[in-house]
Amino acid sequence: MKVFKFGGASVSSAPAIKNVASILEMYPGKKVMVISAMGNTTNELEFLVRSYYKKDQKTAGILQRIKDYHSQIISELGVEQQNLGQVHQLFAVLEERLKRMPSLKFDYEYDQVVCFGELISTAIVSAYLNQNGIPNQWLDVRDSLRTDETYREAVVDWKWSEMLVNNSFTFKGVDLYVTQGFIGSTTTNQTTTLGREGSDFTAAILANLLNAESVTIWKNVPGVLNADPTDFSDTEKLEELSYKEAIELAYSGAKVIHPKTIKPLRNKNIPLFVRPFDFPEQAGTVIKEIGYQLELVPVYILKKKQALVTLSPDDFSFVGIDVLSEVFSFFKSNRIKVNLIQQSAIDLSLCVDEPEVGLESLLMELRKKFDVRYNTGLVLATIRFYNDESLVKMANGREVLMEQKSRRTVRMVLK
Ligand code: ASP
Ligand code: MG
Repeated sequence: MKVFKFGGASVSSAPAIKNVASILEMYPGKKVMVISAMGNTTNELEFLVRSYYKKDQKTAGILQRIKDYHSQIISELGVEQQNLGQVHQLFAVLEERLKRMPSLKFDYEYDQVVCFGELISTAIVSAYLNQNGIPNQWLDVRDSLRTDETYREAVVDWKWSEMLVNNSFTFKGVDLYVTQGFIGSTTTNQTTTLGREGSDFTAAILANLLNAESVTIWKNVPGVLNADPTDFSDTEKLEELSYKEAIELAYSGAKVIHPKTIKPLRNKNIPLFVRPFDFPEQAGTVIKEIGYQLELVPVYILKKKQALVTLSPDDFSFVGIDVLSEVFSFFKSNRIKVNLIQQSAIDLSLCVDEPEVGLESLLMELRKKFDVRYNTGLVLATIRFYNDESLVKMANGREVLMEQKSRRTVRMVLK
């Protein structure tokens, strides 16, 4: 049994979905298909839930835009009315939800609304495939993927999920399941999400629990490249990567795979293929156990929207473990990821993801104890397997505000 994951771009239009069908025909056999919301739908649903939460006039208009986008795809695919019952029902449930008073918990409301992207996309794709000679069963992954109640960043309950997933994905009388990435549910059946771009992680969870033979992520790139083609012109495809190398790249901000994807696969030694959906006969990149240390070309990773915050205890005391743990738990409780730190006797510098709402209100809290300085709009650049030439290429004349080097990796905070 294999797991195939198709992201938003691979189901963003009728021709894209037809291409998905042809990939399935090329690779017959037992499969679980994990699909994301179509195209930009998750962003649209984020607008929708924010607008609903603020009781904004625009809510109905945003919902209509989302409906129109999906209707257009449905009509271009030629899915017949009698096969669309479930899609209509999902939209009806969403519409009902938006008529209710939101609770005071935004993250909870977010998950209850944003989940419809995946639910609707899988319902459409499943109906289209069934209508066109690719029989499959649609499964609501929320019936088997159990999580805790951390809305928007739910933590998987592996024990419960293992039992439920194996009870649902039995392959009795079906070879193909179509299900959602990104979403799950609590023991009281409230919908949760696993964090943005979490569908890769779902594919890895299901593969782990079902002991799949492999996972393939079909993407709009030839495989894992040594740099993002939107930032660098001359990129090279990497033929193979070890799990360890892949996790380093993903963690540093390489967008090609979600960082949480690797661990469930590595633990069961399941290979991960990253392959181009436009050229499905190409091998792409394989990520697997590799027993020796890889020597690769320099790999460039840019993590944008970074801020560099420098804290100095205002009583001139040293930055010790207690200060570090206090600062880290502060950022953690505010859900801000710390990506790099550097410390001297009385200065602690942290490179963090810039929060959407800005830093000011957060820093107010820190100013009670520290002298705080910061820079925003920065880039955290990582080079694995760096050499002298690659350092010059990466900095590209920009000011380097902080730098850290180990034998294989260099990280720079760039202005
Ligand atoms: N649709 C979700 C998102 O855009 C999950 C995913 O695409 O992986 O974040
Ligand atoms: Mg997406």
